[in-house]
Amino acid sequence: MHAATAEGPGRPDHSEVDALAGGAAGARALRPYVDAVLAALEEGATERQGPLPAGGPEAVAARVRQAARPLLPATGVGASGLRDLVRTVAAGSADPADPQCAAHLHTPPLALAAAADLAAAALNPSMDSWDQAPAASALEAETTAALADEVYPDSPRPDALVTTGGTEANQLALLLAREHLGPGVQIICGANAHHSIHRAAWLLGLRRPHTVPTPTGVLDPLAVRQVLRDTRNPALVIATAGTTDTGALDPLPELAAAARIRGARLHVDAAYAGLLLLAPRLAHLLKGLSEADSVTLDFHKLGWQPVAAGLFAVRDGADLKALDHRADYLNADDDTEAGLPDLLGRSLRTTRRPDILKIAATLKALGRDGFADLLERTVAAAHHLAALVDAHPGFELYAQPALTTVLFRPAAAADADVAGVRRRLLADGHAVLGRARPHAGGPLWLKATLLNPHAQPSDLAALLKLTAEAHQEGAPVR
Ligand SMILES: *Cc1c(COP(=O)(O)O)cnc(C)c1O
Repeated sequence: MHAATAEGPGRPDHSEVDALAGGAAGARALRPYVDAVLAALEEGATERQGPLPAGGPEAVAARVRQAARPLLPATGVGASGLRDLVRTVAAGSADPADPQCAAHLHTPPLALAAAADLAAAALNPSMDSWDQAPAASALEAETTAALADEVYPDSPRPDALVTTGGTEANQLALLLAREHLGPGVQIICGANAHHSIHRAAWLLGLRRPHTVPTPTGVLDPLAVRQVLRDTRNPALVIATAGTTDTGALDPLPELAAAARIRGARLHVDAAYAGLLLLAPRLAHLLKGLSEADSVTLDFHKLGWQPVAAGLFAVRDGADLKALDHRADYLNADDDTEAGLPDLLGRSLRTTRRPDILKIAATLKALGRDGFADLLERTVAAAHHLAALVDAHPGFELYAQPALTTVLFRPAAAADADVAGVRRRLLADGHAVLGRARPHAGGPLWLKATLLNPHAQPSDLAALLKLTAEAHQEGAPVR
């Protein structure tokens, strides 16, 4: 245990540094490194003192260069290399657990989930065949079945796959549409849809998506009906539950009806809002979700998981047959017939992390009440921030938050000032806000995407104060 003690430069002692993480001895080998990592995380956060390192990209890169070089020394530095690099990365991190870090759908992971991820790393199951992941694959089957039932309570055989996130889940949605409707399938989405839809269409060799303008911020079912009437090809309609810019939710029941009437498939990208399903007081926002053929969910957004943790759910599990694939060394027919689960069709990836472990551990630890409480508190924080903005004479509020995103801007500021405020806060390391232009040609807004269930009213007031100060600082140089 000595080589990895927290203090000292760490002797180049290969007999320690090359210890393996697995088995009963693995846990012993891990402990000093985990201690070193925990110490480094604390040191890094103390050093940073805020949501973001001050000084901008060059200052951070210089510090990283200094810690990293030489990256492959002739003689290794031992465990001190771990501690130094973790401290450097921690000190130079954007920390989503800091309430002033609210730019993106960049979640503060739960400590419990991060600990589960450590177990996943140490055990290193690979989810492409049963003989690499006997229990992890069984847990995945349990958990995806339970989650598919949450999304599709009335379907006889829903199913769900674990993905690296919304991007991969949306790709699967388009791929299944291509497989079931043919390569001529016309994707129809709103201007408010996630950019990954367009990329997936490009990747899959599909025609360019028909993008319906969304002047109200959400997809208009009547406009979709019109496009469906005019489209000769079989179609996949994409709705969004929680847009990336504003958190708005498309009208799912009406869009489902529009798709149904025309025999089109419907995919709902619920990467942001989907887990509201688990909160009885918020689930009504997702009315109509279960009418979709497929749904994207992201546990690394409003699910407080470390990246990666995505889910792709389908109403009819038979849809997933299109992903079946054979590789004799992983799922030979006779192995499958003899009862070894065939996992290769559960993803387009081959080697695959057991991301389900942290998700399952979180659901079990929090329970429905605990999960709902986190969701409700986060939504309440967004409404509180919106109220503060509304009451502040120096700011304009875009709209009441639909979810947990609050758009605001210094009153009557030019776009360049709005962008400048954001960059000034980044450079000072005081706050991390995003930016959004929800309407093409409309003004630029600052975006606070709140995902921290522990954010207090005083944190939100401080965020507004910092923003006002950054605006004032910038005003003279306009
Ligand atoms: C975040 C997001 C995605 C992409 O998900 P990743 O997990 O980043 O791959 C897709 N759609 C929406 C609506 C999102 O918010």
